[in-house]
Amino acid sequence: MPKQEKSFRLFNTLTGKVEPLQLNDPGHLRMYSCGPTVYAFAHIGNFRTFLTADLIVRTARAIGLKTTYVSNITDVGHLTEDDMADAGGEDRMKKALLSAEGQRFPNVWALADFYTDVLRENWHQLNLIEPDVRPRASQHMREQILTIEKLLDTGHAYETENAIYFSVPSLPDYGKLSGNVNEDQLEAGVRDVVIDEEKRDRRDFALWKKDDKHLMQWYSPWGWGFPGWHLECSVMAMQYLGDSFDLHAGGEDLIFPHHECEIAQAESLTHKPFAKHWVHTRFLQVEGKKMSKSEGNYLVPERLMAPVDEGGEGIDPAALRLALISGYYRKPYNFTMKHLRDSAGIVSRYRRLAERAREAADGGTNGADQLGRALDESYEASLEAMMDNLNTPKALAAALDGVKAVEKTKSLSGADATRVLDWLTKIDRLLGFADVSTATSETDGDSSEDGALAETVESLIQERTAARAGKNWARADEIRAELDAMGVELQDSAEGTTWKRKM
Ligand SMILES: [Zn+2]
Repeated sequence: MPKQEKSFRLFNTLTGKVEPLQLNDPGHLRMYSCGPTVYAFAHIGNFRTFLTADLIVRTARAIGLKTTYVSNITDVGHLTEDDMADAGGEDRMKKALLSAEGQRFPNVWALADFYTDVLRENWHQLNLIEPDVRPRASQHMREQILTIEKLLDTGHAYETENAIYFSVPSLPDYGKLSGNVNEDQLEAGVRDVVIDEEKRDRRDFALWKKDDKHLMQWYSPWGWGFPGWHLECSVMAMQYLGDSFDLHAGGEDLIFPHHECEIAQAESLTHKPFAKHWVHTRFLQVEGKKMSKSEGNYLVPERLMAPVDEGGEGIDPAALRLALISGYYRKPYNFTMKHLRDSAGIVSRYRRLAERAREAADGGTNGADQLGRALDESYEASLEAMMDNLNTPKALAAALDGVKAVEKTKSLSGADATRVLDWLTKIDRLLGFADVSTATSETDGDSSEDGALAETVESLIQERTAARAGKNWARADEIRAELDAMGVELQDSAEGTTWKRKM
């Protein structure tokens, strides 16, 4: 029985309640998730937030929804103080370029490209679903400038000597997401608001900063400069998802000012709700402490997953993914090394199960079906938990019940094996860590048809590896999609790419 979108419930920051998804187009979820600023390696807290978006997409697909998923790359305009209302501070990209690690880059563009490539690589390693569109701020300058012009024309923005500002008093319901409504509250939450004598209201924030000395600058009707960080997400979300879409996700640190400002920019132009559902992931700590470089607990997947002989920790991406999704997104999460080791143990149990099932399946598909019911119940309970506000601890426990049921079964019949493999594929599709692909290419039959398929797949994989090495991500994604259409699923790891047939 297909599940209804109404039964997929998520906490909505806008209303403060857990609510069913309400889709503009029944059966089609359109969502935007704020991506990283590419001035450094993304850390595990960033990835925990990206994983929330990933799990929303996976759950939506599991109940039969079509999804359009957009997640951006911020490569311009994000200042060090941008967690305050109207930011001052240094440009994050410039600061990174001038740091010790930045010395190897010839310019800020090369730095942005490097961290974007690493981000995409980590994204694939951690088995996050590739967004349908991954727009970059620097490639949407025209749209951003046009939006500022419209805001000026409609009286929602004004120009000063230094900048174009959004006029907060021009939008009566400003503050509805964060509750930061008036100047006094703002002052309490904001340490440093840009001092510009010409600003009409302290809450006003910059849409465009005039700066002909900036490392990344564009020509605009107001001279050389660059856009404010908040603008890009409003503009790109509306460009790819329409004026009004279903769901917007991000880390809880983005509620104010970033998401509040996104709403202000969009809704003052369209007079429609920008996004109906706002989903925010709570923060992450490491071993009970705030992650910081000086504490030595600043963990980035790029280093955790790199092989030991390349200076990394050699952590299995599937284990890291499992550890990161095992905390409920609505609660602050304490990430520990013990937890990571435990997750690696659980991943091994899934892999052993897959191996056993593949061996048993080699003997045919006959025999008694001892496990069908337990595995169906496990998957159903796991999916139900995900539909209940992405309750991952409960979903993972339900999945583990399936593992236990198989482990208790001494001898797997052919029918059992088929059930187990089918169940593993479904669990993997929903939660993304049950990497069951290991060595499946060898077990794929030996008929000539299978042989021809294997040859085609291998050669496409080689071409994709080459495309990735040459950073031709578009071609690499195309090949993945081609293989997907052939019913082939890829799994990337440090050892290379393996494949399996989708069940
Ligand atoms: Zn954003």
